[in-house]
Order: sequence, then C-alpha cells, then structure tokens
Amino acid sequence: MIPVVSTHCRDYALAEVRRAVEEVLEPLGGIEAFVKPGQRVLLKPNLLRASSPERGVTTHPALVRVISEMVRDVGARPVIADSPSLGPWILVARMTGMAEVAKGTGAELLNLNRAVTVRTPKGFSFRVLELAREVFEVDCIINIPKLKTHSMTLLTLGVKNLFGCVPGFRKSSWHLKTGTNRELFATLLLEISLLIKPSLTILDAIWAMEGNGPTAGELRFVGRILASPDPLALDRAVVEALGLDPPSLLTLGVADKRGILPEVDFIGDSLRLDGFKLPDTVPPLPRPFRGLFRNLLTPKPKIDRSKCTGCGECVRVCPPKAISLKGKTPSVDYEACIRCYCCQEICSQGAVRLK
Ligand code: SF4
Ligand code: SF4
Repeated sequence: MIPVVSTHCRDYALAEVRRAVEEVLEPLGGIEAFVKPGQRVLLKPNLLRASSPERGVTTHPALVRVISEMVRDVGARPVIADSPSLGPWILVARMTGMAEVAKGTGAELLNLNRAVTVRTPKGFSFRVLELAREVFEVDCIINIPKLKTHSMTLLTLGVKNLFGCVPGFRKSSWHLKTGTNRELFATLLLEISLLIKPSLTILDAIWAMEGNGPTAGELRFVGRILASPDPLALDRAVVEALGLDPPSLLTLGVADKRGILPEVDFIGDSLRLDGFKLPDTVPPLPRPFRGLFRNLLTPKPKIDRSKCTGCGECVRVCPPKAISLKGKTPSVDYEACIRCYCCQEICSQGAVRLK
C-alpha cells in the first residue's frame, strides 16, 4: 500500500499553501525524508505554455514557491524546470510566474531542452526513450502536476506531467510514433515515469480545470493539495475520487496489466469530485473496431472560425503537419490527422473543438 495524503487548502495565499504542504508531507516524514542538504533538486511543475496563473493551465507559482523555499530550508538547491511544447522558455517562465519564484527563492530556472537517448530496462515496450539530459543530472525530482482534464488522455496528473521531461521539439516525434494508438501512448507515458522515478509528487488541486482541458476547459474549485511518493498511486486516488475504475485512465490500465498498479493508503481529508466534467472525447475503442470505426467515432478537431485569430500555433504544434493555414484560416487534413489533440491543447483561444 502506497500512502496518498490529502489536505484542504482554501486559496493560493502563501501561508495557507505552506501549511497545507507541510500537512501533506508530515505523514510521509516531512520534506527531509526526500531531500538532503547539498542536493540539487529538480521541481517539475506543469508549464504547458505561456499562460498567467489565474487561467489554471499551469501549476500555480505559489505552490512552486513554497516547495522551493522548503527545499532551500533543508540546505538543498532547487531547480525549476520544464520543457513547454510551444513558446520561448523565457516567456513561459515569466508569464507563469516561475521567473519571479526563482528570483525570490534563489532557485535555478532550467529549460529541459538537451536530449539524451536512454536505453530502457528489460520488460519495457520502448527499447529507448529520449529524455532531457538534465533529469539525470540532479539528485532528486519533485513532480508538481496540476489537476486538469485532457482531451487525449482524460486527465493530466502525476504520470502525464512527466511527459514534459521530453525536450519540447521531440514530443511531436513521440506522438507520431504512437499515432492513433492511445494505449501505446499511455505505455510511453508510464515508461517515462518509471524511468524518471520522481521522489515525490505534489498535486495542485486547489483550482482545477474540468471540461475540455488542458487549455480551454473551465476552472473548478477543489480546494485540495495531495502528495505521494508514487505518481501512480496519486493518479489512482484522483481517478477513484471521480467515481471511475482505475483503468479508465489508460496509464493506470497499462500499469494494472503489468501488475504494478499500487494499492492506495488514503490519508487525510477526503477527495470527492462529484459531477467533475470530463472531456467530450469518447473512450478508446475496443481493438476490433479501431480501424473500422475510428474515423466515425473518434472526435475530430474542428476550427471555430469565430474564435480563431489565425495565430498559426496549431500549425506549428501538429505532429503529422495535418493543419495548414489558408490565409488566416487553419484547415485540417483528416486523413493525416492522428487525433492527438495537440492543436486543441495549444490553442489559447479555445478555437479547436472536438466533434
Ligand atoms: S485554431 Fe487556435 S491555435 Fe490555431 S490558428 Fe486559430 S487561434 Fe491559433
Ligand atoms: S490536427 Fe490536431 S489532432 Fe490532428 S494530428 Fe494535428 S494536432 Fe493532432
């Protein structure tokens, strides 16, 4: 049984967040159980894109600040790092509030953009993975995801957050390799998390995103912070709070098939997510129907021209280059589209709908 600790947190006021983080870490032995003096500690928030904290797209800077201060108080060196899909790192760091956190806490800011090819252990489906070199140059990793829905993977939690450790420009090639096979993409996410092995995962579930996340969903107050030494256990606790079977989240389903899905020892304030709106996407099809009905039953990205500004970000992020701009209007080639929904994920205008 793996502990998952949950406590209430009213808002992002620093004193309130500090109290809550100390409370969730206390049954786990405190921050000292994970971080030792002199260590270089990588903090991995969700910094999907350049977006201000109030929009709920990224991990809130108050939580990263508190964890950064706690790491520093132990005598270790915090490093705030991610590899956003789009946008200059410095702009992402500034807009998300991370640049200010780094300045205020003396943390290093690091763009995870140097790739290294890693041979995986026996039993993995992927023989090699391409991850950020920096991930293997630190002593400890603290994973700091945000509770959000995700049109492709249902939710983005502890395991999915670590996909950010794949350097930005390489994410597209992994989407292309896994194509329309969502179970294979979930296998990739699981194996990345098993390889990176964060020491601790702390979930920002104060303000969450429901509906068609991870960018254009709606904000929902949940008022919780959760922590666990195992991202799989934390993800399982959230999925069960939604009233779903763990395999509904494919990463948990793949872990279950491999016999590595942990049982959860839930400690603290209960987490109930009744009526939490999930994305409009349908669940993955059973294998025999995948080829036959995929085009009919899997939602397609459609551009809402009334919202589209013609910025072209969806064109740049689309792994198979299935979107082109005709003048200022994007057009999707559905034969080439692999239904990865990166376009929907990146569109800040909410102009990509899934139909
Ligand atoms: S759909 Fe969104 S990302 Fe694509 S061009 Fe329009 S506004 Fe930009
Ligand atoms: S059009 Fe959108 S969903 Fe289709 S492959 Fe491109 S980014 Fe993915």
